[in-house]
Amino acid sequence: MHEMAITQSVVRAVAERCEGRDVDQVTLLIGRLSGVVSDSVRFCFELCTMGTELEGADLDIVDVPGRARCRECEELVELPDFIALCPCGSADLEIVAGQELSIQSVEVKV
Ligand SMILES: [Zn+2]
Repeated sequence: MHEMAITQSVVRAVAERCEGRDVDQVTLLIGRLSGVVSDSVRFCFELCTMGTELEGADLDIVDVPGRARCRECEELVELPDFIALCPCGSADLEIVAGQELSIQSVEVKV
């Protein structure tokens, strides 16, 4: 389960930036094509934050749908997963969204 390693690095990055202040909320962007399961991240977040500045913080996960641009017809198509075709029949797709995994925002307690 690579979500644990990912969540640990997120928690570490947030803890470094908040410099000892308690964190109230963390918002993560997780793309549907990133291969990361939101529910697993949620579960790992509770474990990883114990004893850190992030303990008890809310985790908000923004789900980013997959999107690709067709290199044949320049059309933007929605990608439910990696196996997709443009309506024009081309499989030559450039993924433009859905692979992200990033921290969107962090709120610290005042
Ligand atoms: Zn196309």
